[in-house]
Amino acid sequence: MCPFTGILRPVTERVPSPPTQTQSAANGQIEVKRIGHEGAVKLVDLMGGSARHEVRVHDHGFVALVDVMPRMVPEGQTADQAVVQAARVSYGIGTRQVSEDRGLVRYLMRHRHTTPFEMVEFKFHCAMPIFVARQWIRHRTANVNEYSGRYSVMPDRFYRPGVKSVREQSSNNRQGGEAPAPESSALEFLAYLDRAEDLYEEYQRLIEKGISRELARIGLPQSLYTEWYWKCDLHNTLRFLALRADAHAQSEIRAYAMAMWSLIEPIAPHSMEAFRDYEMEAVRLTRLEVAAMRERRDEIDTTNKREQAEWHAKRAALGLDREQAGEADVSG
Ligand SMILES: Cc1cc2nc3c(=O)[nH]c(=O)nc-3n(C[C@H](O)[C@H](O)[C@H](O)COP(=O)(O)OP(=O)(O)OC[C@H]3O[C@@H](n4cnc5c(N)ncnc54)[C@H](O)[C@@H]3O)c2cc1C
Repeated sequence: MCPFTGILRPVTERVPSPPTQTQSAANGQIEVKRIGHEGAVKLVDLMGGSARHEVRVHDHGFVALVDVMPRMVPEGQTADQAVVQAARVSYGIGTRQVSEDRGLVRYLMRHRHTTPFEMVEFKFHCAMPIFVARQWIRHRTANVNEYSGRYSVMPDRFYRPGVKSVREQSSNNRQGGEAPAPESSALEFLAYLDRAEDLYEEYQRLIEKGISRELARIGLPQSLYTEWYWKCDLHNTLRFLALRADAHAQSEIRAYAMAMWSLIEPIAPHSMEAFRDYEMEAVRLTRLEVAAMRERRDEIDTTNKREQAEWHAKRAALGLDREQAGEADVSG
């Protein structure tokens, strides 16, 4: 709809073809500057002309990058260009060298100047078991549209770990598991999943009998796959990755986070490099830990066992403890 007349107009009327470099609308209010046309700057598609870059995850899952903003960038650049453009609050292409852009991206990441990273957006199509979706949906800053089990019959797809991937309860992490469980327990667990999957036949039978889809589905297990479109800006995608690509995340969701990482790394390489350097593989010290380091003490000034264990995990990561400390339960 034309904002000035309130009349619906075809797109071709608003942006006449062939395009001109600079064009003023009839009412003089809109100036269309066409940058990147007529050989001035060649724009390239960051997805290489493809509609979908997909990574398979687990037995039936996937993460597929289906769109990105910015999608068209000057040749030789990446989506990092949108981050530096926002940081410089500049218009048009800019004249800085890519190496300077990298330095700026790294500065922004180090100093948690986060809003420029919100200028890049990703849209993913993902399929995951419901128990993974429940963790994933807690990341509230994304826009999500999920498959409806009220509207459609849920497909017959279930997550099953391999025997060697069945984990025992961790001894030092109340929220975690440790692979592998003894084979007999693993087989018992998989038999339990078989019985849960058998409920799918009941689900189908009850739907055929006339029970509503919205109720029939509630007896299905959490291993059932669902799918959604998930759109999120780079800053909040990094928040997702910081938690879900971390070693303390449940391995099933971690596999999705790693797939997502591999898809966006070529799209915004400087941002992802800076994220790895200053967030994922950085070690953040508390005041107590800084004091212990300054005073060359091995222990921090607290009786809290969990905090002590976390400190020793950090010392191990820093190469300060000769004997590697066991992984601390920092999952909360
Ligand atoms: C290992 C692990 C264990 C967990 N265990 C549990 C558990 O036992 N129980 C449980 O309930 N959850 C648990 N969670 C989920 C966790 O508490 C978070 O809810 C989840 O990770 C989403 O994180 P987030 O809030 O940072 O993400 P997002 O929702 O994406 O938020 C990102 C940031 O945006 C801002 N933000 C988002 N929404 C708002 C808002 N409405 N108002 C103001 N600011 C906002 C906040 O600054 C937030 O940090 C666990 C997560 C992990 C990684």
